Amino acid sequence: MKVFEKAPAKINLMLDVLRKREDGYHEVEMIMTMVDLADRIEMQELPRDTIMISSQAGYIPLDEKNLAFQAARLIKDRYDVKQGVYIHLDKKIPVAAGLAGGSSDAAATLRGLNRLWELGIPTDELQRLGAELGSDVPFCVTGGTAIARGRGEKLEPIESPPQCWVILAKPPINVSTADVYGKLRANAIQHHPSAELVLEAIRLKRFDLLCDRLGNVLEEVTLDLYPEVRRLKECMLRLGAEGVLMSGSGPTVFGLVSKEAKVARIYNGLRGFCKDVFAIRLLT
Ligand code: ATP
Repeated sequence: MKVFEKAPAKINLMLDVLRKREDGYHEVEMIMTMVDLADRIEMQELPRDTIMISSQAGYIPLDEKNLAFQAARLIKDRYDVKQGVYIHLDKKIPVAAGLAGGSSDAAATLRGLNRLWELGIPTDELQRLGAELGSDVPFCVTGGTAIARGRGEKLEPIESPPQCWVILAKPPINVSTADVYGKLRANAIQHHPSAELVLEAIRLKRFDLLCDRLGNVLEEVTLDLYPEVRRLKECMLRLGAEGVLMSGSGPTVFGLVSKEAKVARIYNGLRGFCKDVFAIRLLT
């Protein structure tokens, strides 16, 4: 038996950090949505009680450090599954990019193994398991568009943003999420974006307002550490993207574009800047 799952990338339309908590985590408020760029995950039963993992991507760990491996082990342990599984990850999402690639792989593995082993685990329980693997995993279990609070695990689904083109560009640097949060001074944030205003723009289906109201407080850290990310943002705006923001802790920058006629020009303009450029749609 074999099952397949798609693991799409996420972008943050808004990311705010409210405070640093006593437990060391940050209290966040984020609006997240999925885009049509996905890893493809194949899961196949193994007769032996073991977890094996492979990928065409040479640059991710293929042992217990892989989030898909951790997801498989968690579900096996918790539900006392004695069968083994072979997991193949066909990676399309750039790694360490701020697009939650690893988290989405973990979430897709939880969904896939729930089917493969016919465990009948309800979605909210899959999300609770996901929270043990990482703050973005619960959102990735269901996808769609949601506002997340707490560490990112308290989720409320919201309606989809107006459909548009999304240009993703990742400069050739790797950014550690832990490092960016570590350098953020939560009580000295200059400008907090408003979840309320972003939600209003989505409710009113006002693409122009949505573009104006995008915001991510982690830009304050990453743009200072990596000036090329700031230059990339400026370049996307100059080329005609209507709303431009860094996703997650970066370094990927996304541009929202309403008119297809503009897409090729922006895409080609960015290709001179970096190799990883994608022109895709929102997954609504
Ligand atoms: P987030 O936005 O959730 O912080 P990210 O997009 O910045 O995620 P990932 O692509 O998830 O980052 O990779 C972060 C780290 O996790 C990398 O250093 C990578 O080696 C490791 N990793 C573990 N499992 C995976 C996986 N299945 N796919 C990609 N990276 C993985």
